[in-house]
Amino acid sequence: EQTVVLITGCSSGIGLSLAVRLASDPAKMYKVYATMRNLAKKERLLDCVKGLHKDTLDILQMDITDQQSILDARDRVREKRVNILVCNAGVGLMGPLEAQSLATMRQILEVNLLGTISTIQAFLPGMKAQGHGRILVTGSIGGLQGLPFNEVYCASKFAVEGACESLAILLQHFNIHVSLIECGPVNTDFLDNLQRAEPGDTSLQQVDAHTLSLYDTYLQHCGMVFQNAAQDTEDIVKVFLDAIQSSNPAFRYYTNNALIPLSSPKISALDGSQYIRNMSNIIFSTNGKGEQK
Ligand code: NAD
Repeated sequence: EQTVVLITGCSSGIGLSLAVRLASDPAKMYKVYATMRNLAKKERLLDCVKGLHKDTLDILQMDITDQQSILDARDRVREKRVNILVCNAGVGLMGPLEAQSLATMRQILEVNLLGTISTIQAFLPGMKAQGHGRILVTGSIGGLQGLPFNEVYCASKFAVEGACESLAILLQHFNIHVSLIECGPVNTDFLDNLQRAEPGDTSLQQVDAHTLSLYDTYLQHCGMVFQNAAQDTEDIVKVFLDAIQSSNPAFRYYTNNALIPLSSPKISALDGSQYIRNMSNIIFSTNGKGEQK
């Protein structure tokens, strides 16, 4: 019997790679429901699987901010069960907080937080009834530690951590494992897709010069980090496979060990000041080329 996997956000990036990998499994172990908000974007996925996977791949429309769309997708799963739910869809938001509109902030929370939670909600009764299941969530370094100019993104991703940890405690009584796959920078469309205040935007006109100068330094840092340290989606998919294939999956997987030391002062120095100092030094004490000023 195939393992039925439903993945959100499969038109690009991590979701697309994971869908391709699982649907291409030589033993056809998985039946993948690759879902995406906009089916017009399915060509990229279809190109990657080269049309070979009729019995291992189905593409469904699902906008995780639209409850009816989630329920419709769920009801179109032919096997009438989902063994593994992968909540992956998400969007970024970057810029000085003063420049963010309430509508934009709402949108980020709608997708990253409420979208993830409503997707889980829709599949929980089925998983509980079948007596087993896996819920995998694409987590972020921004869900484990604060990052300047990412306040709302981090708030949404921290919130996802809280929701998942809370669920994990309960769901072990139902043989349902919840795991977060914590990613640092990954080469995807994420940077292109995220909403970002750009120099010259009208939203930045009200922002003070000191903040703008720090934002500029941050953007250089961010560009450098993506250039030097971003992982490929294949690296992330390997970690998903570890979690999927483990008989007793962990709650958290880190795709990149380099990330762990950044977060550790949050645990070793509980008053939080050391993490804040370290991060400020890392981001703001460089000239953007990784050299100390
Ligand atoms: P991506 O932009 O390529 O993929 C995100 C996908 O989510 C897109 O296909 C997008 O269409 C989809 N999406 C957005 N809103 C949606 C909605 N309302 N309904 C359904 N789908 C929606 O970027 P990615 O890097 O593959 O992102 C996947 C996940 O990884 C996100 O949750 C992101 O926060 C997380 N992440 C990414 C990075 C990174 O550096 N790329 C780092 C840490 C975490």
